[in-house]
Amino acid sequence: MTIHTETEPHGGVATLPEPQTRAHVAVQTVIEGKRGADLLHDPLLNKGTSFTEKERDAFGLRGLLPANRTTLEQQVDKILSNIRRKATDLDRYTYLVSLQERNTTLFYRVVIDNLSELMPIIYTPTVGLACQKYALIFRRPQGLFISSEDRGRIRELLRNWPRTDIRMIVVTDGERILGLGDLGSCGMGIPVGKLSLYTACAGVPPEQCLPIMLDVGTNNTALRDDPLYIGLGQERLRGPSYDALVEEFVSAVQDVFPKACIQFEDFGNSNAFRMLSKYRDQVCTFNDDIQGTAGVTLSGLYSSLRITGGALTDKKFLFLGAGEAGVGICNLIVQALIAEGLSEAEARARCWLVDSHGLVTKGRTDLAEHKRPYAHDHAPMPDLLSAIEALKPTALIGVSGQPASFSEPVVKAMARINKRPVIFALSNPTSKAECTAEQAYTWSDGRAIFASGSPFPPFTLNGKTHVSGQGNNSYIFPGVGLGVIASESQRVTDEMFFVAAKTLASLVTEDDLAMGRVYPDLQRIREVSAQIAVAVAEVVFARQLTRMRPPSDIAAHVLAQMYQPVYEEYV
Ligand code: NAD
Repeated sequence: MTIHTETEPHGGVATLPEPQTRAHVAVQTVIEGKRGADLLHDPLLNKGTSFTEKERDAFGLRGLLPANRTTLEQQVDKILSNIRRKATDLDRYTYLVSLQERNTTLFYRVVIDNLSELMPIIYTPTVGLACQKYALIFRRPQGLFISSEDRGRIRELLRNWPRTDIRMIVVTDGERILGLGDLGSCGMGIPVGKLSLYTACAGVPPEQCLPIMLDVGTNNTALRDDPLYIGLGQERLRGPSYDALVEEFVSAVQDVFPKACIQFEDFGNSNAFRMLSKYRDQVCTFNDDIQGTAGVTLSGLYSSLRITGGALTDKKFLFLGAGEAGVGICNLIVQALIAEGLSEAEARARCWLVDSHGLVTKGRTDLAEHKRPYAHDHAPMPDLLSAIEALKPTALIGVSGQPASFSEPVVKAMARINKRPVIFALSNPTSKAECTAEQAYTWSDGRAIFASGSPFPPFTLNGKTHVSGQGNNSYIFPGVGLGVIASESQRVTDEMFFVAAKTLASLVTEDDLAMGRVYPDLQRIREVSAQIAVAVAEVVFARQLTRMRPPSDIAAHVLAQMYQPVYEEYV
């Protein structure tokens, strides 16, 4: 990939105008013919007690609803007070899922207006727990389950989905769910949660989203032994049969949903890298764990430069974890460094990886293909601390899923080497974070520039309150997805993640940095995603990755696509 720096018009972008209310295409098409209980049971159309008198007459709803009408705002208040009364986050999750299943508009109105409070419920960390308990809390399928027994009929299954204009698919095979490992079919919570974020954070219309579980079995024996387990109780399919299933799936999507982008999500890394390199130049696809994580991390590093001073080219990056996230981030950093004038070899020499066997070096014979570009000439280093002492990195990035691995000596070493050490503990969920915000600030005397994959509450040390940023790819993928959909791109390229990272960094304010946050306030996520989408769409049109004619005003075109959760009048 070559990154063209002229496609970075987004440093300090002016605030975009308020999006226009999007004509709710699905409503226009689906309303015809739907009446009575069918209307109430269609979550995309249901308004519950907000149906107007005219609608109640026109659609045979009399008697099916109590007499008193409520407004959307009243419904939101009721839902919020119910959520806040629940005893646990898992209860809140199941309550919100059941709301999503019965009233899409109300679900998104509640979530969008209370994103900081509810994102940790519908996504990490609570979604991790929900996946672990998925068999117990499963009530209704919220997406498609395609199993290895469906070989030869995947097109048919896709056609069973009740909607046809699908633009964004998130698919997982459940092998590496967050940092929790193989959860098999119970991993379905992740595509469902991610697509909720596409809609909540970027306004991708919910009727255009499709979560898919590719159930190829599980190697988690506890799940297989559980009579309530919802998936295939067999060992994971591997080898040519696995590849053939994925191939049939990808090709069926091209036939049935030709405008859909496929996001591969939480696959094990041996499959994730292979699938990405196989399909990225054939169809519209990306892997968020590899590319989205890279975008959000690069953005955090750009913002950190505003605190540490210096240029990206002066810095050295050490990763704990050499999987999808670690190598994906390295790949994008390398592209960013090349764009700033380094050679590829010089750029790679800035990125170092530590995996479960120590520092990734040339002398090792046990390295998977994806780690080899970052295997440098160096004496073996058995652990993270010795690697830090030897390499003296400016930034330490945790993507290992190993809690407590950024120990006190590790953080103290980073703080001794650097005036403002950059420490990102990106592993999810919270229980897997390499260290907590409190630990990073305490052990560095408040000097760490800290971000984490799952949120931590603000922490006060010696009178200063540190508000750490959430280095989560949810800052990146919704906007990238919206840009890809709005421009009908036929490919997803690394350049899009590069411009997304730059755009995100440009939206971090001085106030954010002053409180220690290298990402914008989450409450601004829709504005952030819209700006990222515009930057991505500009790349699509500039590189001619679409058959669509460029609109005269790309920003207005993107904003017009964004779903707004409002009740439309049906009569
Ligand atoms: P992966 O399975 O591809 O890679 C995990 C890596 O960690 C492997 O290289 C493995 O060798 C290494 N590892 C395991 N045990 C180790 C140990 N004791 N010491 C050092 N390294 C060890 O998984 P991934 O997709 O790269 O994800 C890793 C973690 O990053 C997960 O917890 C995931 O939730 C998190 N993640 C966060 C974000 C985000 O947005 N914040 C995005 C993607 C992934």
